[in-house]
Amino acid sequence: MMIRKGKAACLLLSMIGISSVVFGQQKDYPIQPVAFTSVHVNDKFWEPKMEVNANVTIPYVLAQCKKNGRMDNFLRAGKQLDGDKLSEFPFDDTDVYKAIEGASYSMQNKKNPTLDRYIDTLINIIGAAQEPDGYLYTFRTVHAKKPHEWIGDKRWVNEEILSHELYDCGHLYEAAVAHYQATGKRTLLNIAIKNADLLVKTFGPGKIEEYPGHQIVEIGLSKMYRVTGNKQYLDLAKFFLDVRGPKGDAYNQANKKVVDQHEAEGHAVRAAYMYTGMADIAALTGDTKYLNAIDDIWGDVVNKKLYITGGIGATGAGEAFGDAYQLPNMSAYAETCAAIGNVYWNNRMFLLHGDSKYIDVLERTLYNGLLSGVSLSGDRFFYPNPLASTFQHQRSAWISCACCISNMTRFLPSLPGYVYAKNKNDLYVNLFMSNSSNIKLTSGNVNIVQQTDYPWKGQVDITVNPVKTTAFTLRIRIPGWAKLQPVPGNLYSFMNKTPLPVVIYVNGKATSFVTEKGYAVLNRNWKKGDKISLALPLETEKVLANEKVKDDRGRFAFERGPIVYCLEGPDNRDSLVQNILIDKNAIAEANYKADLLNGVDVISIGGKSTKRQLNSDSLIETDQKVKAIPYYAWANRGPSEMTVWIPYEASAASPKPAPTIASTSTVSSSLKNKRMYMAIKDQYEPTSSGDTNYPYLHWWPAHNTSEYVQYDFNTEHTVSESKVYWYDDGPWGGCRIPVSYQLFYKKDGEWVPVKNTTPYTVSKDSYNKVTFEPVNTTALKMVIQLPADNSTGIHEWTVK
Ligand SMILES: [Zn+2]
Repeated sequence: MMIRKGKAACLLLSMIGISSVVFGQQKDYPIQPVAFTSVHVNDKFWEPKMEVNANVTIPYVLAQCKKNGRMDNFLRAGKQLDGDKLSEFPFDDTDVYKAIEGASYSMQNKKNPTLDRYIDTLINIIGAAQEPDGYLYTFRTVHAKKPHEWIGDKRWVNEEILSHELYDCGHLYEAAVAHYQATGKRTLLNIAIKNADLLVKTFGPGKIEEYPGHQIVEIGLSKMYRVTGNKQYLDLAKFFLDVRGPKGDAYNQANKKVVDQHEAEGHAVRAAYMYTGMADIAALTGDTKYLNAIDDIWGDVVNKKLYITGGIGATGAGEAFGDAYQLPNMSAYAETCAAIGNVYWNNRMFLLHGDSKYIDVLERTLYNGLLSGVSLSGDRFFYPNPLASTFQHQRSAWISCACCISNMTRFLPSLPGYVYAKNKNDLYVNLFMSNSSNIKLTSGNVNIVQQTDYPWKGQVDITVNPVKTTAFTLRIRIPGWAKLQPVPGNLYSFMNKTPLPVVIYVNGKATSFVTEKGYAVLNRNWKKGDKISLALPLETEKVLANEKVKDDRGRFAFERGPIVYCLEGPDNRDSLVQNILIDKNAIAEANYKADLLNGVDVISIGGKSTKRQLNSDSLIETDQKVKAIPYYAWANRGPSEMTVWIPYEASAASPKPAPTIASTSTVSSSLKNKRMYMAIKDQYEPTSSGDTNYPYLHWWPAHNTSEYVQYDFNTEHTVSESKVYWYDDGPWGGCRIPVSYQLFYKKDGEWVPVKNTTPYTVSKDSYNKVTFEPVNTTALKMVIQLPADNSTGIHEWTVK
């Protein structure tokens, strides 16, 4: 058990630069992050991304919040604007809070008086929207004639389900603490204090005993406690954990007491925020019960529920963790917010335990499943982050539920806070990026300079400049990828990796070192200008998933250092990648391309494209050069085919369709979204009507209507058979098999019903075949009657 009493002087907090708040003894994390304000990043990889966030994303998100009614919500609640029109969701207030939090961090990296003034005006508007007793939740305070159905008829009554009142409070607190730290102004902090005091009065034993429907207020209250020293905030955060379960839903982790939870279940963002909050409260109170739970849950995630990209939350149904090893690629949910939550959580786990395995997960998530959430341009976003695509995924300029967008805004400027950490005279080097930092150790102040071309090169040069020659311990993380373990546990492994030594030079001499908890430990008397060089063996590796992950069987993924690669259409022949097969022993080479995707390593390798043929099960294979790019950089050139997991066994390949009548036809439909058209003739065989992993065409949310799809043949054909596989995602989804359907063929420009010789059927989980008297035609049309209360969809439609 590593919780111990700490001194008040070291109240550094992970994402914020609290450096000198003193209010008496308090427990906290045994290891403290070095605040991002002390770490000046001048890195070729990260600095441009942080600049795009500051110069494009933050102003863009603030403008979108205004355009999409979020500022008006506050203005109306504060009686500064007439009317009762509100935006779409009661949690929309949090986008404004998260944008303020991001702007506050960003202003600490680089002063921005214009932004500072704009944030001041926003805070005025927020203050005016606060009710006299501190309550702040625009969706109630506006008193709309037709209140939003989620908010309940009184304060808090719907909190455990849908109102998100406490969720809004949590993000308010995080923003308030960040703004206070950035500017020294107490304007937003005072609003937050008034609100938190109301919560203290309202919730607790003998008061309202309810848990937050969507966790985050626990983290927010912990931050408020650190800044103000008001222990009631910590007590309330602990209460919100302890009051949870066992009679609620697994969906929001309320089906068990939190200390009795040992597996990751339910909504992934809620879960990650809760585990983060549990770590905070374990650290701040010394209560080990929370630790036992989150240690087990962490083991469950890394061994069974983590994408190779670091994404968590496999399934779109409930935005939730799936079952063990349930990691579908094309339908992967892996929400950007969940990736950010995973970084928060793993950082806390490291601060508790001092083990590099947590930073291994953090780094994997950061460079892959988190970074993929924002475009290189900074103004297009992913909510789910799939690991395969056939054109159906595209970044959005805005999403009505904008949580991922505003979360990205606040995360990126705080990134330098994850590079270093310290414990008295131990200095941890966790992430590798060029920077210059000033760090206070027990033995004195040290300037530390990192220079590296990471993640493209494994060479990291570190210069230490202590103010005076002094002894301290440098703990340099040896990443799991540089050893034999891409991820802690047995979910992923390297194929044929030859272990190469990690070499560390001190002042030019190779130095032996001991390794503790994944760190190379260098303990000596350091003097100004001492140079450490770390040579990490960064090679192109092939990674395999545990055999239990059925979606990755017969496939491998490319990795170089912390970067996971993918095949994307624009780099490959005919813009196709799903049809590619690569021998598992093929040799890859990598080259840096400065002019591609803002500068990336590109992997090149010999492979084959595969194609089905008519009347034969064997595939036509053609040699071709295959290229892979970093996963985070995909979907910056429009919708495309993409895959992270590359087949090396023909059984895992998705060959190009054989030239059937359907596959060579042009699709048209009553459905406007043309990106779905390809799905019905792609020759992917669904495993069931509810299979969401392969593309399908659907008319949701339309219902009770008559719809059609149509094949215009490439030439005249004689046809007499049709087979259709319906999409049906009941009982939770909105699509069911249709009521009925009928086929028509084109004759002299008119649509004429075919004369069927077998009945039309509408069954689930299999092809519905109908035969009809042969017709000679250029087009066939299927007219479908949707159910009264549901929509319908089609996986596949073949014609003979
Ligand atoms: Zn989100």
